[in-house]
Amino acid sequence: MPGYPFITIGGAVATNAHGKSCVLHGTIKNSIKEIKIFHVKNGWLNLSEKENKEIFDLTIGGIGLTGTIVNVTFKLEEFKNKNFITYKSKVNSIKECISEISKKSKEKDSFVYSWNMAENLKYLGKGFIFQNKINTDNSKKF
Ligand SMILES: Cc1cc2nc3c(=O)[nH]c(=O)nc-3n(C[C@H](O)[C@H](O)[C@H](O)COP(=O)(O)OP(=O)(O)OC[C@H]3O[C@@H](n4cnc5c(N)ncnc54)[C@H](O)[C@@H]3O)c2cc1C
Repeated sequence: MPGYPFITIGGAVATNAHGKSCVLHGTIKNSIKEIKIFHVKNGWLNLSEKENKEIFDLTIGGIGLTGTIVNVTFKLEEFKNKNFITYKSKVNSIKECISEISKKSKEKDSFVYSWNMAENLKYLGKGFIFQNKINTDNSKKF
């Protein structure tokens, strides 16, 4: 689930978006079982690793060029807890960011991502790392 709340599933698949656990789970591609598209010349097509694989691969991140994404089936994981606790830390360079992300990702149930400045070479990578940990205390309200 990308950071902007008003996205569509078709748009997220067409941009191969990533959510807030991208270090662990990669992009949305890794969570897709099947896609159904409609193409004006080719009609309805079912896509998966087993069926029309080439078009399946081209559709994820394909900005809509293979046809309109009409249906997506996801691989889901059960989430037994209610929410996450987010910890924020500052980094001063891209090198420090990569090193800190690698460390934090090895912790149990740790969902890590970062926001980094890229408009200035002097401060390239300066930014924040966000680490989400599963809140196992379901009674706690935030
Ligand atoms: C504030 C903000 C935060 C964001 N955070 C993240 C983030 O954390 N991670 C991340 O990966 N991205 C992020 N993005 C980018 C955003 O998530 C993606 O651009 C989004 O997934 C696009 O979804 P949408 O429904 O808005 O698509 P649109 O912007 O409407 O379309 C994007 C592309 O997909 C195509 N498309 C849309 N729907 C379909 C369809 N049904 N079939 C075929 N093609 C289609 C369009 O033609 C277009 O080329 C962020 C964007 C903003 C503005």
